[in-house]
Parts: sequence; structure tokens; C-alpha cells
Amino acid sequence: MTGLSRRAFTLGLPLGTLAAGTLPLLGRAGSAAAAGPAAVTPQAQIRIGRFTVTALADGYADMPYSYFPGRAAAQVEQAARAQFVAQPGGVRFLFNQYLIEDGERRILIDAGPAGSLGQTGLLPQALAALGLRPEQIDAVIVTHMHQDHIGGLVAGGRNSFPNAELFIDRRDVAHWTDPAKRNGAPDYLQPSFRLSAEVVRLYPRLQATDGERQITRGVSVVDLTGHTPGHVGVRIEDGGNSLTMVSDMVFPVVHPGATDVNFIMEQDHAAAQAMRTRFFPRAAEEGALIAATHMAFPGLGRILPDNGSLRWQPADWAYQS
Ligand SMILES: [Zn+2]
Repeated sequence: MTGLSRRAFTLGLPLGTLAAGTLPLLGRAGSAAAAGPAAVTPQAQIRIGRFTVTALADGYADMPYSYFPGRAAAQVEQAARAQFVAQPGGVRFLFNQYLIEDGERRILIDAGPAGSLGQTGLLPQALAALGLRPEQIDAVIVTHMHQDHIGGLVAGGRNSFPNAELFIDRRDVAHWTDPAKRNGAPDYLQPSFRLSAEVVRLYPRLQATDGERQITRGVSVVDLTGHTPGHVGVRIEDGGNSLTMVSDMVFPVVHPGATDVNFIMEQDHAAAQAMRTRFFPRAAEEGALIAATHMAFPGLGRILPDNGSLRWQPADWAYQS
């Protein structure tokens, strides 16, 4: 067995889907934080009324071109080349997190894969660069329970944000803690099941939410079910301005130009496609400012009409109001 395939095997990757010559960065054990002094902690801020939203990044991973059901690997690679973002390992996914501050509370949206995927593990030092300790995070809103969004919630059998309330949609809590679902799931989803069990155990202040829900004045959970059963977004609104963090509604290269392309971790392709088919045109019509976990840092942008199709337009972020 070659080093590459042995590594992929131990990480539970679907070997059959790995394109020849691609490097399976998924599941890489090392973290960017430990990679040496070159690691940087990018930050970008935007103001939405009285809120300051800071984009942070835990790192990135390159997803093989074969990880996008609905398109052949060669088609995804061709699209990536046309957009000048083709990486040797596939499509680069950022892992953006967002910190919302209103002067009273600090709410973090998602926690990154924390070294369990690709070149990641930077979130703790990104928070430290803002002068923040984990104890100062008052709440974490989890958009869904995939490992790349919850990995940073736990470390070494302890919760990473000891004072945080945790908000997760009830449908995701139920799905990812269901032993029958876990037993029937492919290997590459097992880390999400394992981490979900740990998160539920280690956060006594977990609140399961049901669909739309106001977390604090001006910050609400919005229902974007599809990518997972309880996949949600977070809408921040004040003074006529708004930003909706849409998590995994939009993936680089393949979205928003098409809605019939999935990502390998989506178990219900039809549900994911249905939500994108509803959401993309609505976001384009509204010109909504959105933030997406896996788009290029800081993940802020808009979905715009483009000759009968839709395209992603990055948005300015420096203290824009
Ligand atoms: Zn994700």
C-alpha cells in the first residue's frame, strides 16, 4: 500500500472517489498552527449597524474534484481552471468563522475543523490575535454538525469554550446523535458523528433550536435545511443593514451557477438541491449580503444575475456600513 492510499484509508476517505494524482488533504493530522512561523491569522471586519462582525479562518483544505456529485471530476476541474482557482489537490475550501460583537455579547458562528482536515487549527490563535480568550465567548451558534464546523468546540475531552451557550438545530442534534444513522453512514461521516456525541456531552448549556429563532436582539437563526437536516444560517440585522451567514449553501467553483451539484458530505442530495434552488434566486433578487464558510476569505459576497445564470461577487469588508 502506498503512503498516500494508506493515509487515505486510515482517514476513512472513499478511495474509489479519489482521482489519480490528487492529494487527499482531507483528514490531515497536522494543524496549520503547528506548521511553523509562516502561519497567519487573517481577519476582516464589517459593521452591520451596531454589530461588528469579524471574519476569522481556521485554515483550508483542498477537496478532490471527484467530491462533487452531479458533475464529473473533469468538469469540476475544468470549471476551477476557468476561474483560475484550480489547485493540484482540487477545489480549495476555506473554513471561515464569524465573530459577532454588539458591545455586550460575543457570539461565534461555527468553530472550524481544528486540525482534523487540511491545513487547519488556526482559530484559537485568530481569537488570541483579537485579544480574546476562549472563556470570553458567550455563545456559539453551530450551523450544522459536520466536523468542519464543530471540530474546534472540543479538544482533549474538554469543551473549548467553557462559558458559551451552544445553539444547534434540534434536527441536527437528533440526526448526528442517532446510533442507527451513525451505523449506516459512510466512513467519511464518522468523525462528524463522533464529534457530535462529544459536543452534546461536553456542553451542558446546549440549546436545541427549532427552525427560525432569535438568539439575541438583531441576531436570528434562519432555516436553511438541506445540506444537513438541521442546517441553518444566521441573520444579523440592525439599522436597515443586514448580513446573512449561510454556511454551506454555497461552495466555491460549482455554486451559485448551478444548483444540481452536491458535495460528498451531503446525504440527501434532493433536499440540498431544493434549498439551493429556492435560496439562490431569492438572494440574487434581494442583493443580499451573505457570508459563506467555504468561499475565499473572508467569504463575504453576493449572488448576482449573470446572463441568465448566477455568479458569486465578493463584497468589500473593511468597516463597511
Ligand atoms: Zn462545511
